[in-house]
Amino acid sequence: MAKKTVIIGGVAGGATTAARLRRLDENMEILVLEKGDYISYANCGLPYYIGGVIQSRDALLLQTPEAMKQKFNIDIRTANEVTQIDPEAKTVTVKDLKVGNEYKESYDTLVIATGSSPLKPPIPGIDGPNIFTLWTIPDTDMIKTFVQERKPKSAAVIGGGFIGLEMAENLHEAGSKVTVVEMLNQVMAPLDFEMAQLIHENMDMNGVELILGDGVESFENSNGATLIKLKSGKTLETDLVILSIGVKPNSILAKNAGLELNEKGGIKVDANLRTSNPDIFAVGDAIQVENFVLKTPAMIPLAGPANKQARICANNIAGGNETYNGTQGTSIAKVFDLAAATTGVNEKTLIAAGRVKGLDYFTAIINQKSHAGYYPNATPLTMKMIFDGEGRILGGQAVGQEGVDKRIDTLAATMRMGGSIYDLEELELAYAPPFSSAKDPVNMLGFVAENILKKMVTFIDCAEMDALTKTGDLDYMILDIGEDMERLVFSIPGSYHIPLGQLRKRLDELDKNKLIIVYCAIGVRSYNAARILSQSGFSNIQVLSGGTTFYKSNHYLDFKTESGLTSSPAFTDSGKDVEVKSEMKILNCSGLQCPGPIIKVNEMIQTMVDGDVLEVSATDMGFARDVEAWCRRTGNTLLKTERKGKENIVCIKKGLIESGSIHPVAAQSTHHGAAVPSMPSTLPQGKTIIVFSGDLDKVLASFIIANGAAAMGRPVTMFFTFWGLNVLRKSEKQNIKKPFIERMFGAMMPQGTSELTLSNMNMGGMGTSMMKKVMKDKNVNSLEELMQQAMANGVKLIACTMSMDIMGITKEELIDGVEYAGVATYLGDAEESNVNLFI
Ligand code: FAD
Repeated sequence: MAKKTVIIGGVAGGATTAARLRRLDENMEILVLEKGDYISYANCGLPYYIGGVIQSRDALLLQTPEAMKQKFNIDIRTANEVTQIDPEAKTVTVKDLKVGNEYKESYDTLVIATGSSPLKPPIPGIDGPNIFTLWTIPDTDMIKTFVQERKPKSAAVIGGGFIGLEMAENLHEAGSKVTVVEMLNQVMAPLDFEMAQLIHENMDMNGVELILGDGVESFENSNGATLIKLKSGKTLETDLVILSIGVKPNSILAKNAGLELNEKGGIKVDANLRTSNPDIFAVGDAIQVENFVLKTPAMIPLAGPANKQARICANNIAGGNETYNGTQGTSIAKVFDLAAATTGVNEKTLIAAGRVKGLDYFTAIINQKSHAGYYPNATPLTMKMIFDGEGRILGGQAVGQEGVDKRIDTLAATMRMGGSIYDLEELELAYAPPFSSAKDPVNMLGFVAENILKKMVTFIDCAEMDALTKTGDLDYMILDIGEDMERLVFSIPGSYHIPLGQLRKRLDELDKNKLIIVYCAIGVRSYNAARILSQSGFSNIQVLSGGTTFYKSNHYLDFKTESGLTSSPAFTDSGKDVEVKSEMKILNCSGLQCPGPIIKVNEMIQTMVDGDVLEVSATDMGFARDVEAWCRRTGNTLLKTERKGKENIVCIKKGLIESGSIHPVAAQSTHHGAAVPSMPSTLPQGKTIIVFSGDLDKVLASFIIANGAAAMGRPVTMFFTFWGLNVLRKSEKQNIKKPFIERMFGAMMPQGTSELTLSNMNMGGMGTSMMKKVMKDKNVNSLEELMQQAMANGVKLIACTMSMDIMGITKEELIDGVEYAGVATYLGDAEESNVNLFI
């Protein structure tokens, strides 16, 4: 047994190894050398101390060298940096940072627990005065002092990993307007994109600006603030910058000592955590581990693995032969209102490793509640599981407000024990209404996964459906089986509507030869619909994974753009009370899942008279967005939206406020005084134009009207159908194989704007040429210019897919920037318009 063990590093891995070793061997000489001034501190709590959630600095300091000495008889020397390891002589060289002298210490066994350090790439200006990284207690002290003394109005966090996001939340709490810049297209890389969209949406709701897919080009000091130039050319000016772009292992000592490292600088260890030198062990962030699922080398810097490795390492130094069996990467972070957690591998990693969905792996996404809906304050919980054809669980992800931790831990534990999706179905988990449902979300994942493997149901992801509708490669129909009222809030463009209760009677409206994509709010009713269809002779049915709740979160940016908001319509904490003349009605929808709250609101409003005010509370995250759309479409007035704890509180006045006045919420400010979302008027303001004609003069008139309305800030939709489609055709000939009749048809019709002629006085083309000349002479924009202007001003140009089909026109023949949709989309826009023209 070793007589003297020297441990380099005195925080997670180092301090734990030392304490365990002492418990195993009372006589061993144990020396811990730590270059910082603190040992065994809670680095995971540092962001919360900066934000003021953790108020006492002392609470972060879990141990002092004196207490460790007294409790464990361990010699701990802080401010003592190891500068060299001599594996031959079995000594380390140490620099006493307080005194400045160097000395050597011998060892029988050495443990390297040097952790990792934040990355600081050589970006110009990176050492500027307001730019910080957060890793240690002194880093924390500097940031905290800066925040307290300078009270930064704005802060930029570079990097959307969990530390960056925790800092974003805490700086927001401290009163700064926060921008997060992330190079990838998503934050929280361990999540798959669609799950990360839930986080993006929530950050947006909380007024955090998110710049994705962009990196920092340079930092510049600008009158005390920092000017950040991004690779895209964008610039930001901010009072404080937190750099959080990843970590690198502290392995320079190991490298200089000739120990084996991987290409990322991670120290290679065997299963017993021995390095390439048998007398030297290594643990924590500095080492390469095995990915528990893929059995491939990985770097996974987390506190849990560091602590577990430390225990195994100490056991082995004390004579044991224990193995570390890989890291799963189980992790969780609180990001504003949500918790996001992962375990195992994500889908991105599998795709990068060449695995194919549907062959090598499958995915299940569920939208459940944290506990029984009828017990107060149940909140939505979204989970994704990845599994293979044998039912082996490869990974899990969970995002929600409550109960995320226990669900991910149950999945992680099942995976660690080699359990499968079939075990998830059998798990008997604690249930009472305040805690869960009789079928816990984890059981539910098992059920859904089994249904997938048994081919009882096929799911389609949001991204897959978007790709399909864009390319139009397959002949498909999107079937909405929700209730009429739900379509007032939202419907997928081009979808066909049959409420679930009517489906059995209306099957003849559906085409058995088409792919039918069924959707509802969360995926449960659509699964039932899919079962009805598949037992009624329909063979190609897919259910939209996660339903429209998930779909809407995944398209939150589109909704923002559509409704002209600068941030998602939620959490506009007015701080002002709503003036109510009569008694305010109260409706508690907490715990109800989408579309439950909207259905209740609809029912309640019907019982009220114009001018009555209804206050609704709901825990469903998407409720604020849904109720905004519902009010807009039903002619009611949204007075205020506010977030209180886990609840969205909204006040609705039955009926519209005075014509032309602006939505009252627009007059309120966010709770940090940040930019106010400008809400649209409660009256429909849009203009819809059906362009049926292909005559130059009529088309010109329609674009002049469209541009005029767009200039007034009105949403405009132009729906091109029949002859109007020719306006959208590219002028150049397209090489597309078509049946003879369609080819002839195409050749006979005008190909693009340049071939359009006047409806009257064309005179074999002379009249049209004269008109074009007069327009030029009088400085009137040409049709081509008017079209470009319209597109630049956000006018929606929709090509009617049904007419395209009849006229044999394909997407390849139409100009870029055109949307493809059916009558339902046009009608949806027309409902929100006060002018509708047929030209
Ligand atoms: P550390 O705990 O970093 O300890 C390494 C020590 O070695 C350092 O104190 C360093 O000063 C010392 N050292 C380095 N070189 C020398 C030398 N030459 N001589 C002497 N001493 C040396 N993980 C989670 O799982 N969950 C979380 O919520 C979480 N939150 C975090 C929040 C923050 C702000 C930070 C910074 C980290 C967080 N982590 C979290 C990561 C977690 O803290 C690390 O994975 C864990 O601390 C790694 O343990 P370690 O022993 O390898 O390294």
